[in-house]
Amino acid sequence: NDHVYEALLIRKDSDDFDFEPHTVLKEPVIIDVIKKSGMLYQYAKLKEDKPRKNKDVFKRPPADPDDMVSRPAVVTVMGHVDHGKTSLLDTLRKTSVAAGEAGGITQHIGAFSVKLPSMEVITFLDTPGHAAFSAMRARGAHVTDIVVLVVAADDGVMGQTIESIHHATHSQVPIIVAINKIDKSDADPDFTKKDLLAHGVHIEELGGDIQAVEISAVQGTNVDVLTEAIAAQAEMMELKADVKGFVEGTILESRLDKGQGPIATVLVQRGTLKKGCVLVAGTSRCKVRGMFNEHRQPLKIALPSTPVEITGWKGLPSAGEEMLQVETEKKAKEVTDWRIVEKKEKLLSEEKEIIQLKAEEQKAAHTQKMMERSKLHWKEYHRLQVDKNKKLMEEQKDRNDPVLNVILKGDVDGSMEALLNMFHTYNCHDLCDLQLAHWGVGMVTIKDIEMAQMFNGIVYGFNVTVHPEAQILARKEGVTIKLHKVIYKLLDDLKDDLSSKLPLKE
Ligand code: GDP
Repeated sequence: NDHVYEALLIRKDSDDFDFEPHTVLKEPVIIDVIKKSGMLYQYAKLKEDKPRKNKDVFKRPPADPDDMVSRPAVVTVMGHVDHGKTSLLDTLRKTSVAAGEAGGITQHIGAFSVKLPSMEVITFLDTPGHAAFSAMRARGAHVTDIVVLVVAADDGVMGQTIESIHHATHSQVPIIVAINKIDKSDADPDFTKKDLLAHGVHIEELGGDIQAVEISAVQGTNVDVLTEAIAAQAEMMELKADVKGFVEGTILESRLDKGQGPIATVLVQRGTLKKGCVLVAGTSRCKVRGMFNEHRQPLKIALPSTPVEITGWKGLPSAGEEMLQVETEKKAKEVTDWRIVEKKEKLLSEEKEIIQLKAEEQKAAHTQKMMERSKLHWKEYHRLQVDKNKKLMEEQKDRNDPVLNVILKGDVDGSMEALLNMFHTYNCHDLCDLQLAHWGVGMVTIKDIEMAQMFNGIVYGFNVTVHPEAQILARKEGVTIKLHKVIYKLLDDLKDDLSSKLPLKE
């Protein structure tokens, strides 16, 4: 079609797919050239018998439970807009600063850890709402151990509350409810609890197994009770991780810093992250140059469930992408190069598919249009023929001009259209007039024979059969039926019939 071209080019024997225009290539390969809106994309596909070596890197199989050690819980705060997620995270972050770890202000890095008086640590993902959770889920990343569902006691269960419940349930992540804004005069925690029950959240107080804590995020009331409830839930879950071997983690956030280049907040989930570790995430790679916590304090190591900001990236990784450690920078480049090519090919094949789909759609639309047009054409044609036939019937009574009357039956619309178009050319025969007395799609019927009888015509059938009754009638009335399966043979036959009608030359 107009958009997709296949060309055979010659290329040099190398694994590199990118080539400059006019490159001299020695080995023939299929190059798909896709031209779309003036842009030319090119890519080379290696010969089928020489599949590319998979250079990707994958997660290791799960470690032996005996080799694993306890790790902090990773918590996401979710809930309806304005119910107090940001306020709660702010209060919790202040707790983290107050815990004395830092000498200053907490930075927003996408996550932070809180140390409880009991010395337990909880990691909060500081990207409240669904966007973060959905992005992670869409990438198949599983980073959250517990969801804190914030519900404002003056508002009750709302749209995004229900969505959050669904998110948590589908991901099989336990929920802890924070009934917020209890300081407000119109707060009705009891109603909120019943409301939650009606939406499948069975809280302990009402005989279920989900913890609910009444809090005021802005005043800080019961926020410590909430963190204790989280710690209790975490303890029950016996969260563990393997701290040995290659690091595995997830990208939580990334940004481009003017001075330091790409920076990503990552959550370590396995192994121990150190300066100098070589990582890959999506098509980006990193040799860890600097590692910081949310207080901008440099860290020497980061254990599982620790969120850290790291510098040293080549490329900007995306939230939700899996981060894996590899042996060397060379290996990291190999992996990301391989992924870049894979991504390019995937995009191209998707694009090709879209172009093909569009072409098919266009073709279908064209066919539809043609059919409608030909129907119109046929209708018009038919009306004209009926008028002409009537006139002719009358005229023929008076004149003796040779006329060949034809009844035409075809198998499908398409072949009828083709035949009718060809009949037009014979219609202007100056010596013998070709009259299409009647035509239609389908088998030859009694009606066709009757028409032939009336006009003293011949029945032509293309790829059709004759109804037995019509056969009998035709034989009885002496009507000729000619069946053909090849258009030009039908036309030859027709020409012969026309000639036979011509007056003998003087
Ligand atoms: P988010 O959209 O869920 O992040 O909600 P915010 O944390 O931005 O809170 C929305 C509004 O509710 C803000 O004006 C907060 O000050 C207010 N708010 C949040 N928590 C409380 C609370 O415990 N008590 C009261 N009175 N107001 C609150």
